[in-house]
Amino acid sequence: MTVGAPIVELIGITKTYQLGETKVEALKGISLSLKKGEFTAIVGASGSGKSTLLNMIGCIDEPTTGSIILDGVDVHSLDDNKKSDLRNRKIGFIFQSFNLIPVLDVFENVELPLLINPAISAAERTDRVHQAIKDVGLGDRIRNRPDQLSGGQRQRVAIARALAGNPALVMADEPTANLDSTTSFKIIDLMLDLNAKRHVTFLFSTHDEKLMSKVSRKVHIADGMLVGASKV
Ligand code: ADP
Ligand code: MG
Repeated sequence: MTVGAPIVELIGITKTYQLGETKVEALKGISLSLKKGEFTAIVGASGSGKSTLLNMIGCIDEPTTGSIILDGVDVHSLDDNKKSDLRNRKIGFIFQSFNLIPVLDVFENVELPLLINPAISAAERTDRVHQAIKDVGLGDRIRNRPDQLSGGQRQRVAIARALAGNPALVMADEPTANLDSTTSFKIIDLMLDLNAKRHVTFLFSTHDEKLMSKVSRKVHIADGMLVGASKV
């Protein structure tokens, strides 16, 4: 599909963690732009800075220096309330460990984040939840709880939950790390399909090079820096 305006722009991002007397330079000056409709993978070894980078983009944590522009808004200029509002409206998160609520069924898990948005009517909410669950291929498991689903199905629920909010960007930090390789490929294929058909903009991270064969844009990170062709 064609890609459009930038959704995220990172300009010279650094992040230094202070651990007692020790400083850990997790990101050492990263500039990167993600456009609407893109499907991007951040690839790097464990400890290279992938989660730190995704946490910056997701407004979960702040950079030490540098700017983040999210859908035209300089995140640094916002107070905490505005920042979490922006995060809730613009970004859908998918986690390595799925983060589903065990006592809720598939429908209720997908519905949960929409309940806090007063702009969405009950009827629209129900429509969106049904559509997202159908889009991830779980239409027949709607009343199952997470413990009645396989790992791959649980991750599909988490993808549906991220999609239901119609976010500008869906971010997934190592979404396949807890899945076997066949299931991992199926999850990547699902995300690629959603990107092609629903025009969902995806950013995901992995340490697994072999998952990357079908991904058009790979950004390699090592030791807190973008490397090789990723440096654009
Ligand atoms: P990845 O997700 O690629 O495995 P991370 O972003 O988690 O990498 O970590 C990058 C570096 O930052 C590592 O050296 C890690 O130990 C360090 N780090 C990550 N989070 C913290 C933290 N909260 N405090 C101190 N150091 C951290
Ligand atoms: Mg990580």
